[in-house]
Amino acid sequence: MSIIRDIVSDFSDEDDIDLCDDVNEEDDDVNEEEEDVEINTSQPDGLTTLRNGYDLFVGMQFESKEATIDAIKQFHIHNSFDYVVKISRPHIFVAQCKHFGAGCEWRVRASFSVKRDVWEIKKIDGTHTCVSTIVSQDHSKINSSFISNCIINLVPEDPGIPIKTLVKEIVSRFGYTVTYRKAWTAKQLAMSRIYGDWEESYNELPRWMNVVQHFAPGTIVRYEASRNYVNGVEDPSAFILNRVFWAFKPCIEGFAFCKPILQVDGTFLTEKYTGTLLIASSQDGNRRIFPVAFAIVEGETKEAWEWFFYNLRTFVTPQPYICIISDRDTGLLGALRTELPRWCNSKSVYCIRYLASNFNKEFKDSDLKEKVIQMGITFFKSFMFGIYSYIYFNFIN
Ligand SMILES: [Zn+2]
Repeated sequence: MSIIRDIVSDFSDEDDIDLCDDVNEEDDDVNEEEEDVEINTSQPDGLTTLRNGYDLFVGMQFESKEATIDAIKQFHIHNSFDYVVKISRPHIFVAQCKHFGAGCEWRVRASFSVKRDVWEIKKIDGTHTCVSTIVSQDHSKINSSFISNCIINLVPEDPGIPIKTLVKEIVSRFGYTVTYRKAWTAKQLAMSRIYGDWEESYNELPRWMNVVQHFAPGTIVRYEASRNYVNGVEDPSAFILNRVFWAFKPCIEGFAFCKPILQVDGTFLTEKYTGTLLIASSQDGNRRIFPVAFAIVEGETKEAWEWFFYNLRTFVTPQPYICIISDRDTGLLGALRTELPRWCNSKSVYCIRYLASNFNKEFKDSDLKEKVIQMGITFFKSFMFGIYSYIYFNFIN
């Protein structure tokens, strides 16, 4: 909610021109004429007992219709009342108590002021005299869209904020416990509003890569895309992204100062569009991880790894005598058999920690896992064979 000004001291009805000429066409219950609006910049008596921060009063101004409705919602949620919308047009919004005509006469009218370029609460009739019920754990106006407005500032601070924390935030602000699902949907909405939705993000990818290449010349970006067909007819305005490979120029240059090793691995992506992120990294002189190249592909298939290794060798690391460290992924091993002979004097070795992890998945023994790691990192063949024999005869055989 963005309140521009709470109280307008210089408010004058005479210079106000609202686009509300259709007010009487839509709803017989609402019979306000613009000139009949009595402007009152003080708080109505009925609102003085309400908690601060969620009050509504004539003269409140907002930057948009959405912000106006948000304030009306917050007022009702916070005070356990409810309303129904009577008119909702581009320049006018009228709502009244859910129990209007049955003992409660509360009604609000807000409209857009062309002259001031703001939305404003023009009239509030009566006060809520209906009985508020705080028994319910839910409120009809607390939907995912409303919650996303409330948490919009929390998400950028911590995009990984747990859903339970968001539920607690709503409880502390309004006293209602919303469902996990509702809060989860609200977070997705907030993420989409802040960072764009999934389709937008993919559409932005080529532009984003172009900008990176513009400001870091020498950055490598390679795509694989296929044509887009709609009902059998090619749509030339869009392509389907199959794979993308990229390596930033500073990483390409920095690799020359790293150990001549490339550790390659993939991790699957979650959320709406699945896929796999492939990474090649190295180590600097201080044994710090140094990223070299990335790719988003369909999965750890042999074809995807071949494409990754081809781009890596051709555009990023053409140096000889590189050692490639990997796990024993089937697709990766298949690709290495095809690709590695084309790498000049390069070697392929396995990462002992991967092997030990896989070993542990099978035997579920952390002591054995450590022995496997010891076996892998020892430089003395006889000593390594000793550990192997110990493991084999004592645990496996
Ligand atoms: Zn009421």
